[in-house]
Amino acid sequence: MFRFTTPLGEIAITLLGHASLIIQWNEKYIFVDPYSNVADYSKLPKADLILLTHHHYDHLDEDALKEIVTDKSVFVTSKGCKESLPQANILTPGESFTYNELTIEAVYAYNIINMREDGSPYHPRGEGNGYILNFGEYRVYIAGDSEITPEMREIKNIDIAFLPKNLPYTMSDEMFIEAAWALKPKNLFAYHFFNLDLEYLRSKMPQGVVLQNS
Ligand code: ZN
Ligand code: ZN
Repeated sequence: MFRFTTPLGEIAITLLGHASLIIQWNEKYIFVDPYSNVADYSKLPKADLILLTHHHYDHLDEDALKEIVTDKSVFVTSKGCKESLPQANILTPGESFTYNELTIEAVYAYNIINMREDGSPYHPRGEGNGYILNFGEYRVYIAGDSEITPEMREIKNIDIAFLPKNLPYTMSDEMFIEAAWALKPKNLFAYHFFNLDLEYLRSKMPQGVVLQNS
């Protein structure tokens, strides 16, 4: 578990694997893209807030959700999740949602280079979301399934970033490193990876960026 101090209190982050995170904040459990392949969700606390970046099976997983959802759980999702989760608050990039004092901004997440065999992107622009969680001035960026995009390059003042790193769906090592240089987050986590050469990636980080993981 990784702990950080924000103006709205401490956050404690658990990386469950793949794109799945738990952020504990003031007695609240915030789940990101819960996925039953990486954890036994029946053994985990119930979710107060659930963020889903997009509708792919490794991000919107009914088997994981059924173990953590209660009638008080609040969903923030991309528009493609609406059919499965009619109760969700839908955000498109540029929109935001406030949960207690936490403001969640949706940002673009998409492919530019990596395409399916038919030439369409794995993640078309505007379909899925990344999120920036604003704990007051403290900003946590969860990139979702994205490559480095022009919109990502414009994101500023990130304290913690989660960037995906697997081909062909998201970023290569080189793209991940380039994104670290563009964003310069104080703390960086690779997530959504198949394998991770931490030593190599750490050797390529810009000054002031701590690649956390383990
Ligand atoms: Zn995806
Ligand atoms: Zn994915």
